[in-house]
Amino acid sequence: MERRARVAVIGAGPAGLCAARHILSRLEAFDPPVIYEMTDHLGGTWYYEERVGKYENGYPVQSSMYRDLRTNLPKEIMMFPDFPFDDRLPSFMHHSSVQQYLEKYCQRYDIARHIKFNTVVEKVKPVSMETETGGAVTWEVISRSTCGDQKTQTFDSVFICNGHYSDPHLPYIPGIEHFKGKVLHSHAYRYPEPFANKSVVVLGARASGVDISIELAKVNAQVILSHNRPTISLPPPLGIRQASAVVGVLEDGSLQFQDGSVTQADVLLFCTGYNFNFPFLCPSDLGLDVQDLFVTPLYKYLLPPGFPSIFFIGICKIICPFIHFDCQVKFALAVLEGSVELPTQEEMEKEVQREVQRKQDTGVQMKHLLNLENDQWDYYVDLARVGRFTPPQPVLESLFKEVILSHNRPTISLPPPLGIRQASAVVGVLEDGSLQFQ
Ligand code: FAD
Repeated sequence: MERRARVAVIGAGPAGLCAARHILSRLEAFDPPVIYEMTDHLGGTWYYEERVGKYENGYPVQSSMYRDLRTNLPKEIMMFPDFPFDDRLPSFMHHSSVQQYLEKYCQRYDIARHIKFNTVVEKVKPVSMETETGGAVTWEVISRSTCGDQKTQTFDSVFICNGHYSDPHLPYIPGIEHFKGKVLHSHAYRYPEPFANKSVVVLGARASGVDISIELAKVNAQVILSHNRPTISLPPPLGIRQASAVVGVLEDGSLQFQDGSVTQADVLLFCTGYNFNFPFLCPSDLGLDVQDLFVTPLYKYLLPPGFPSIFFIGICKIICPFIHFDCQVKFALAVLEGSVELPTQEEMEKEVQREVQRKQDTGVQMKHLLNLENDQWDYYVDLARVGRFTPPQPVLESLFKEVILSHNRPTISLPPPLGIRQASAVVGVLEDGSLQFQ
């Protein structure tokens, strides 16, 4: 590229900060980025605030962080590859340590002065441009500051780093209007005390569902964890019951489970994940189909084949997010610098279709098509090979697999007379030397 490229970054969470850090390290090819952040702080998910609902300006509170959350990945595989966490921190940290880490990352790479805080991106649209070598696309970014000023700026590339843990996904439950208790989503959960001694049915047993169930049980809530997975190993003294999925609400307000049993509850807490949401885009203009839990086609889970200068960072799930962002950003910058020659639009579309088909053939449901889990490591190696950067160290893959295995393993059937107790993963050692389970 003859002149330095101008890049817009939407969001100052970990993905946006990572994008900014790498753009700022290549100032021979790029202008310093403009980072738009709708809130008054950086950190995205990791900035804890007690408030739920909406800000004064009407925009929804972004973070779904709850007060006592500890990370579900150890710091060794949470860190950006070139910026370790403080040695003194435990492997599974309180969320505030991650926020501090991101603030230090920002200082180290002098990112903050490029962030436009309190500025929401309202629209991003491609604009065709004639150049000497043919057609090209630039991007018009329309933003609005808290004080109401609207501004339009033009960029060569846009990094979409707006996160996908802010728009609650609420699966429809027939008869839900009959439920007499309180209904909420984990997005609006902050701490367990208001639920003390209440009966709570928690829907969904991924990380948040399990974690929040344990928090609730510790304040003597009677918890039923409702899910479709094999029985999960939970600390026995807490008395959390597990049940099949809730399939409906009866006219008297009781919840009915898939196995036909029913229960009354004070609270129905959805831990059912989040929708993708890009309110500033018209997906069909980019040839994209955006559904609640799926976005396609994105070549290498990153770019729409027809518009290879807009990058969706971090839409995959069950990954090591910071490592993932780092690889995707390096690959995207290699594309912009011209050191990666992309296949034709048609070839990229076909490759995405083949990958979707391969997964569907093995029975993967649509809502899980973006889950990478163990496949993430081959993905990083592939991005690194094509983008010519060093892939994550293989030891990180081993560590991730151990952690996932310890999270996922269901209760194992053992001869009862031996009295072997089973517990969830050890997540830390307390000051008095006792082991703490999940
Ligand atoms: P976010 O952190 O969501 O940041 C997005 C940013 O974009 C926000 O600051 C938002 O304000 C801004 N934004 C959005 N829309 C606009 C707009 N239109 N204009 C301007 N700005 C905008 N990951 C781990 O690695 N380990 C964990 O233990 C872990 N635990 C988690 C627990 C919970 C409860 C949740 C919800 C997530 C957890 N994650 C964990 C995943 C976590 O979300 C990622 O680590 C990471 O924060 C995602 O970064 P992001 O930058 O993509 O998105």
